[in-house]
Amino acid sequence: MSIEINDVEKSFGRFKALKNITLNIGSGELVALLGPSGCGKTTLLRIIAGLEAPDSGSILFYGEDATNRHVRERQVGFVFQHYALFRHMTVFENIAFGLRVRPRGQRPSESEIRRKVHDLLNLVQLDWLADRYPGQLSGGQRQRIALARALAVEPKVLLLDEPFGALDAKVRKDLRRWLRRLHDELHVTSVFVTHDQEEALEVADRVVVLNEGRVEQIGTPDEVYDHPETPFVYHFLGDVNLFHGRVHDGHARIGETEVDLTGGSDHPESAIFYVRPHEIEILRDGGGTGTIAAKIRDIRPLGATVRIELERIDDRGSMEVELTRDQFGRKGLSEGDKVYLQPKRLRTFDGNTKRETTLEAVNR
Ligand code: ATP
Repeated sequence: MSIEINDVEKSFGRFKALKNITLNIGSGELVALLGPSGCGKTTLLRIIAGLEAPDSGSILFYGEDATNRHVRERQVGFVFQHYALFRHMTVFENIAFGLRVRPRGQRPSESEIRRKVHDLLNLVQLDWLADRYPGQLSGGQRQRIALARALAVEPKVLLLDEPFGALDAKVRKDLRRWLRRLHDELHVTSVFVTHDQEEALEVADRVVVLNEGRVEQIGTPDEVYDHPETPFVYHFLGDVNLFHGRVHDGHARIGETEVDLTGGSDHPESAIFYVRPHEIEILRDGGGTGTIAAKIRDIRPLGATVRIELERIDDRGSMEVELTRDQFGRKGLSEGDKVYLQPKRLRTFDGNTKRETTLEAVNR
């Protein structure tokens, strides 16, 4: 294990920013800290870095207690959203900086520094920019140089706080793929802060979902997306439709509709069902049991998929369905059409035990 975070707590005045955070990060892993604004991501990252001290709990680096170790002794590299490069230094000198300021004895020779900086520039694929100044670079290039600079001192741990946050959507996407490939090459243990679900799911080996200073769930991108453990994670990792209803005797009752189910236990009192937009079938006809009548309000093509907004006929709210372009084309749907919705999969949470139940709907 490379980083162990044990029961860390942190308050600012009376405000508890982090509560009982326990987390282990494996050697060579890329972990994303994901959560909404103010949930404590940056505070946790700063505590790992040693820029902030926890009120209680401990941090171990490679088995050794680092809780009271100074930031300089932790051998961490940083890349921040606005971690400005030195403006008066060339790209080359920016990357060389961390090596040049080492105490004599540990400082590499000038020729070693040159070789190392050029290796790093090649690694981030920007060798041709060595003599430029930061002001002459694009935002994306600047962040790649910032990463090269962080890697120059061979950190044991790399910490990235929204490194692509200030860039436009296309550049962000390119850079996160690039970062993933780079990580596959280098395997530096990395912790990456983001509030962007897609970014976390695409880049990380494991995702830590934080909410109001607590860990909601830790898992691989597939685990947190396909098997959210709490309603919060379900909401935060994608769009979701909510139905209020009951489960009894193998049926879910949603308004006037009954859906046959397999699996799951009874929730006879009342339950909230969560269904992702792509887990709903739209039928042209076939009203009756197992379907929910609705009217199409809006159709919105979004790249490879089509988003359809509908209003339930029983006036119990609106719904969102996502179809692939192909599915949409085959159905020939238009705004104003009356259709029937069939959830293929419903998920419900037991609030006390935090257990989820997945129910597969069955066609009659
Ligand atoms: P964002 O995505 O907006 O950066 P975050 O998840 O990184 O949010 P933090 O920066 O960790 O959140 O802050 C967590 C909470 O702690 C916030 O409510 C913030 O206002 C508070 N906080 C952080 N630093 C301090 C500080 N130095 N003094 C007082 N409150 C602070």
